[in-house]
Amino acid sequence: MSNPPNPELLSLNTATVRERWNLRRTIEGCARHGIRGISPWRDKLAEMGAKEAAKAIRDNGLAVTGLCRGGMFPGADRRARQAAIDDNLRAIDDAATLEARCLVLVVGGLPPGSKDLAGARTMVRDGIGEVLDHARSAGVPLAIEPLHPMYCADRACVNTLAQALDLCDELDRSASGALGVVVDVYHVWWDPLLKTQIGRAGDKRLLAFHICDWLVPTTDLLTDRGMMGDGVIDLPLIRSWMEEAGYRGFHEVEILSSGNWWRRDPDEVLVTCRVRHQTAC
Ligand code: ZN
Repeated sequence: MSNPPNPELLSLNTATVRERWNLRRTIEGCARHGIRGISPWRDKLAEMGAKEAAKAIRDNGLAVTGLCRGGMFPGADRRARQAAIDDNLRAIDDAATLEARCLVLVVGGLPPGSKDLAGARTMVRDGIGEVLDHARSAGVPLAIEPLHPMYCADRACVNTLAQALDLCDELDRSASGALGVVVDVYHVWWDPLLKTQIGRAGDKRLLAFHICDWLVPTTDLLTDRGMMGDGVIDLPLIRSWMEEAGYRGFHEVEILSSGNWWRRDPDEVLVTCRVRHQTAC
């Protein structure tokens, strides 16, 4: 058994408490519970305003481990694709205002009515290519998050770490740090190549580490994620691979759980996150 992780590296993805707390309450909750990182979603950020949120986050001494999310590049026509590009440029600006360590990209699936998966993947590559210069000049690394293949049609047609890293190789050959990946255990824990691909990514391209657990059985494809320790993912093992590859960043808890954790008092959820980070990660 490896040593417990540094408690200072715990971060909270705001989706974990999104049903009960707005962004301001989440920022204050993190500070109150000694959680040093936060990763907001854009809907909550828009409610509060990016400048106001940036100030509250700074005042409470938190690091922004990511902004969720950009992406959704494929579109049925030119106009839809351009709208996605414009939205990503705005997301990059918001991430810069927050001094976020990355903008998380959930790249998008098939356009409505389409069966052209290869075409959708080309649109993803081209879309990231179009916004990369803006991200670079704003100082916001783009982090491609491969999603579990069950989301291929409607959320993300990038489904493995290898596929995400191939995109990085193609668009940012020199591994400048402007483009990398998110390793979210929920999406990639099953992958037989996970260890190799984490090693391949290395510290330049490992931009974020999202943690939760895979419940057996899983009763909802989207909102039945488990608390760390309640499922079948070997979290200490995957963390050890991240560390061997040079990752020194935060461990961001992201739990979408309509039947359980979203119903609980968020203060209880945050206490549980802190304990499980030490005992199960
Ligand atoms: Zn994630």
